[in-house]
Amino acid sequence: MNQPAHNTAGADWVGRSLAAVWHPCTQMQHHETLPLVALSHGRGAWLFDHEGRRYLDGISSWWVNLFGHANPRINAALKDQLDRLEHAMLAGFTHEPVVQLSERLAARTGHALGHAFYASDGASAVEIALKMSFHFWRNTSRAQKQEFACLSGSYHGETVGALGVTDVPVFTEAYGGMFRRAHVVASPAAGEQAALQQMRQLLERRGDRIAAVIVEPLVQCAVGMAMYDASYLTQLRALCDEFSVHLIADEIAVGCGRTGSFFASEQAGIWPDFLCLSKGISGGYLPLSLVLTTDTVYEAFYHPQTARGFLHSHSYTGNPLACRAALATLEIFDEDDVLATNRERAQRLGEALAKLAAHPAVSRVRQRGMICAFDVTPAVADGFARRFFTEALQQELLLRPIGRTVYWMPPYVLTDDEIGWLGERTLAVVERCA
Ligand SMILES: *Cc1c(COP(=O)(O)O)cnc(C)c1O
Repeated sequence: MNQPAHNTAGADWVGRSLAAVWHPCTQMQHHETLPLVALSHGRGAWLFDHEGRRYLDGISSWWVNLFGHANPRINAALKDQLDRLEHAMLAGFTHEPVVQLSERLAARTGHALGHAFYASDGASAVEIALKMSFHFWRNTSRAQKQEFACLSGSYHGETVGALGVTDVPVFTEAYGGMFRRAHVVASPAAGEQAALQQMRQLLERRGDRIAAVIVEPLVQCAVGMAMYDASYLTQLRALCDEFSVHLIADEIAVGCGRTGSFFASEQAGIWPDFLCLSKGISGGYLPLSLVLTTDTVYEAFYHPQTARGFLHSHSYTGNPLACRAALATLEIFDEDDVLATNRERAQRLGEALAKLAAHPAVSRVRQRGMICAFDVTPAVADGFARRFFTEALQQELLLRPIGRTVYWMPPYVLTDDEIGWLGERTLAVVERCA
C-alpha cells in the first residue's frame, strides 16, 4: 500500500487516522492519493488545519453549519447549558430547552404542526415520519395503507428504512435486497406537469394502499441540487388531500432558511402532515433531528392502550445540549433578521455565480436562496469530483461536487468580500479541472 497523503505538521495522530477511523461516504483506498485534512480549529466561515492553512467552508460542513464555526452566541448558550444539565432521558422527564424549542418551532408553523418528536440524525427523523404515518393509518382502521411514494432522484438518508424512499443508486444499489422499495414517481425537476400527472395516476391506482408521499421541498440536494417550483408542492398537497395520503416534507437540507423562507414549504403556502428537520437546526453543532406533526396525527395515538402510542425512542432523544444549541440558533434568526439579510447575501452569491456562468465549461447554472449550483464539463470525466475537491483545497476552499455538479451552500455569515473571493477562487478551480 502506498503512503496515504495528509497534512501532518504538528499532529502525530493524523498519520494514524486512516488506520483507525473508517471515514463516511468514502472509498478509503482513495486516501492513498487524496489528502486527508487534519483540522485544528474553526472560526466563522473558515476551517484551519494543523499546517495553519485555511479553507472557506463553502458547503457548511455537509450543509449543517448556519452561523459559522465557534459562533460566540451558540458557544455561550452551550457553556451555560453544560453546567445545568447535559442529558437526561426524555421518557417520563422533560426540561426547559426541549419545551422552548418545541414551542418556538410550533409557532413558526402558526401551530399547524404543534407536536415535535425528537431524534438525533436526519435519517432517524425520516424513519419516524414513515413509521408515524404507517401507524396512524393502523390506529384509524385503515391498516391497508402500508406503501410509500417518493420522487425520482430522492434522497432521505441511509438507514435501511430511509433507503426504501431513496432513489440515488450510489447509496441504494448494494443494499437492494434489504428494504422494501417505495413507488418512485417522476420528479418535478424534470417537468412539473408530467410529474403531477404521474403522481395522480399512482394515487388513483394505489391511493388506498399508500400511507404517505415523501418529498424534498424545492431542491433535491443529494442527487445534485435539482431544483423545482413551489407550485408543484401546492398541487401535490391538494392531490394528497384528495386521496387521503399523508405528505411528508423532508426539510432536513432545505429548512432553516436555506431556500429563502424558514421552512421551504412556506413558499408553496402549504403545511405537510409531517415535517422533518435536522442539519442546520442545531446550527451545525450537535446531532439533533425532529419531526413536526399535526393535532390530527397526535390525537390518533392518544389513547389508554399503550400499544396505540408511538413507542419509538432513541437514547439521546431531545438531548438538552442539542436543544440549547437549536434555541441559540433560532435566537440568531430573530436578533439578526437573518431571512432578510440572506436575501441580500443570496443576491451577491447570484452575481458571483453569473460570472462563472460565462465560462464555456459551465452549464445549468441555478440558485434557490442560499444554494447555488452549476454543472461542469470536465477535461477528464473520471474522478472529477475528487480532483475538483483537491484543487479547491489548493485554493483554500472546501467544495465537494456531486458528480459533475459543483455547488455552494455556505454558512449565513459570508461577507461581500468573501463572496467575491469565493467566486474568483471557484473559477480558478473550474479552469484547472475543465
Ligand atoms: C442529510 C439528509 C438526510 C439524512 O440526514 P442524516 O443526518 O445524514 O442522517 C435526509 N434527508 C435529506 C434531504 C438530507 O439532506
